[in-house]
Amino acid sequence: MPIDDLPCYEVFAVRYAWVDKQRGTNFVTCDHYDRSMPMDYFVWLIRNGEKLILVDTGFNEAAAHQRKRNFLRSPIDGLALLGVRPEQVTEVILTHLHYDHAGNIDLLPNARLHVQEKEMQYATGKYMKYHALCHAYTVEDVIDVLKGVYDDRVAFHDGDDTLYPGVELLLIGGHTMGLQAVRVHTRRGWVVLASDASHYYENMDQQSPFPIVFNVGDMLAGYEKLRRAAESTAHIVPGHDPEVMKRYPAWGAQDQGIVALHENPLPASPEKTHTP
Ligand SMILES: [Zn+2]
Repeated sequence: MPIDDLPCYEVFAVRYAWVDKQRGTNFVTCDHYDRSMPMDYFVWLIRNGEKLILVDTGFNEAAAHQRKRNFLRSPIDGLALLGVRPEQVTEVILTHLHYDHAGNIDLLPNARLHVQEKEMQYATGKYMKYHALCHAYTVEDVIDVLKGVYDDRVAFHDGDDTLYPGVELLLIGGHTMGLQAVRVHTRRGWVVLASDASHYYENMDQQSPFPIVFNVGDMLAGYEKLRRAAESTAHIVPGHDPEVMKRYPAWGAQDQGIVALHENPLPASPEKTHTP
């Protein structure tokens, strides 16, 4: 239940791109590996009357073209549908620095960037010589964040931290060395934006990690940490699952690609029963 003296926030998922994939590319091991299992790309906005916090900054059209993703719109343009102009964004939580989470920094001139110390260490350190670990980073994005350090625009966090009352950072690691999830107090209780601590519902539900992974043990332990932090499993929002767009009520027009995560999930559509 919401705690009375903590502020409540609205939380929105803003979809900006997608790609078709096969199941086999989304799990370390799985069945039906060649079945289609598309991936969505999101940024998230947390706000109330006083605070406005963007979680992740997405990629731009050039990156979409380079990596063959279907680009719906700039994630920063998507914020305009919520009445947010780029210059109004003064707080950005970067869950990690992968290309699909940490681009577009140049479009947010007033933003302070909240990053885990371990993520910066990882993205600029010895493991980046391995293609299997560096291929999801774009070095120019990492350099933009590094420039932000020199300009005193980066706030480093070392482990779990409270950003503001009702907005908390959870160091998970696993997918990368310094991945952080975000715990937000809403009127339906604590919602947890898992980001890539769980790409899909199925990763955490089946304890079956996504194959881009720095530390499998931390990733598995991370699923438990997400569960402990959230009001219920229905309060955990995976980072890339198209199901999110179906489970939550649309904000504004149905086809805008924005859903309200502070609202209760929609009733599940009845399972298709197989009649012989
Ligand atoms: Zn991602």
